[in-house]
Amino acid sequence: QTQAPQPHVAILPSPGMGHLIPLVEFAKRLVQRHQNFTITFVVPTDGPPSTAQKSVLDALPSSMNYTFLPPVNLDDQPEGTQIEPLISLTVARSLPSLRQLFKSLTFTESCANTKLVALVLDLFGTEAFDVAREFNVLPYVFFPSTAMALSLFLYLPKLDEMVSCEYRDHPELIRIPGCIPIHGKDLLDPVQARKNEAYKWVLHHAKRYALAEGVMVNSFMELEPGAIKSLQVEEPGKPRIYPVGPLVNMGSTRKVDGSGSECLTWLDGQPHGSVLFVSFGSGGTLSYDQINELALGLEMSEQRFLWVVRSPNDKVANANYFSVQSQKDPFDFLPKGFLERTKGRGLVVPSWAPQAEVLSHGSTGGFLTHCGWNSILESVVNGIPLIVWPLYAEQKMNAVMLTEDIKVALRAKPSENGLVKREEIAKVSKALLEGEEGKKLRNQMKDLKDAAERNLSEDGASTKALSELAFKWNNTK
Ligand code: UDP
Repeated sequence: QTQAPQPHVAILPSPGMGHLIPLVEFAKRLVQRHQNFTITFVVPTDGPPSTAQKSVLDALPSSMNYTFLPPVNLDDQPEGTQIEPLISLTVARSLPSLRQLFKSLTFTESCANTKLVALVLDLFGTEAFDVAREFNVLPYVFFPSTAMALSLFLYLPKLDEMVSCEYRDHPELIRIPGCIPIHGKDLLDPVQARKNEAYKWVLHHAKRYALAEGVMVNSFMELEPGAIKSLQVEEPGKPRIYPVGPLVNMGSTRKVDGSGSECLTWLDGQPHGSVLFVSFGSGGTLSYDQINELALGLEMSEQRFLWVVRSPNDKVANANYFSVQSQKDPFDFLPKGFLERTKGRGLVVPSWAPQAEVLSHGSTGGFLTHCGWNSILESVVNGIPLIVWPLYAEQKMNAVMLTEDIKVALRAKPSENGLVKREEIAKVSKALLEGEEGKKLRNQMKDLKDAAERNLSEDGASTKALSELAFKWNNTK
């Protein structure tokens, strides 16, 4: 008697560490709970893979493989093309090699007794749906952001028809189903200029979500009750939604450039809950003036801090998105004498820190963040309150949600010229680590931390959502 083939899931992360990391966590959790699954990461590229990417993929457990698709050429894209078109085109232009790969996979599978059942891609990879359907493989989206942003994606085709001006000029607040009403200017970056390629791509993907067999979102009910309830209302043309979060990297990210252990050793020597961790994600950069102001603000706050610094970039806020590495070390762009004056009380590290470990370290008491969703979730599972400093993508929406809706964060407010001034930085840092307000936010975060744990426990809602998916994939004929 022949055994039924084992389910095999292909995962296609679009470029960006913030997409790859949660997809890896998703895959790990799937095989941890459902051991019969095999996973292959199929990674589209536009050049040699980054060290950060490689170190995450090399650390995959043995039940998972990865393969890089041949690099696509993006040379025809004008300088300054936004990341959404670049990401989307990287996936779109990888389709011939994806098709080729699927062909060879289906061939070898008959020998290995596995069966490709699902293709999981992330928010800007919907072009690959077609290849999945050609091979009778079910296409899914893993949405590595908020349920709020997902709700906006599903609502966008309608909003696009209803509103004729730029959203930022719309006189009323935008009412994303299930979410706190929000000003158009705070919606995600690529919808801010409707004539741009970025908007066209986002709208295109948003429309295609209806073609997915299901959408997994990295969130959970207690964190975003309104949005999730609304997403789960069944309607024609709406994919099934699986809240599977929080899926975060809790393990070691320290190998990337070797500087990780320094941070942790330094944290070991600091008092409990005393350190403000300052980091702008995998790609965030600040202008020279803003870095200067931030340095002086941290100094003025008299708080302890651990700051991941990248060299200044005056053009775009996500200048390092594709490369991760800081362009210029050491820190000659920091204010004169800053390092000496804050020695002992502050530690500055270049480019990258083992963030998951930093946030779970007992000495960390607060996180000044650019509001990348992974960063926020990593803070939530560790119960660390936030200072929000949104830079790009959907981060302004996240900041509004965190400060006004679930109230776990303070905001570092920019002044009229757009710079966040040193006095403001000092004020919010102090308030978060020492003040009454900080205490309240910390308690609120603690409740969310407990809720996150419950969701991931044996009979938690996120565990159940994942089991439901596994059941479906196990029984795909
Ligand atoms: N990260 C890290 N060290 C750093 C910067 C980032 O380990 O110095 C990790 C972080 O823990 C998170 C991811 O990279 O898992 C960044 O994702 P996020 O969604 O926060 O922001 P993005 O980089 O996508 O803007």
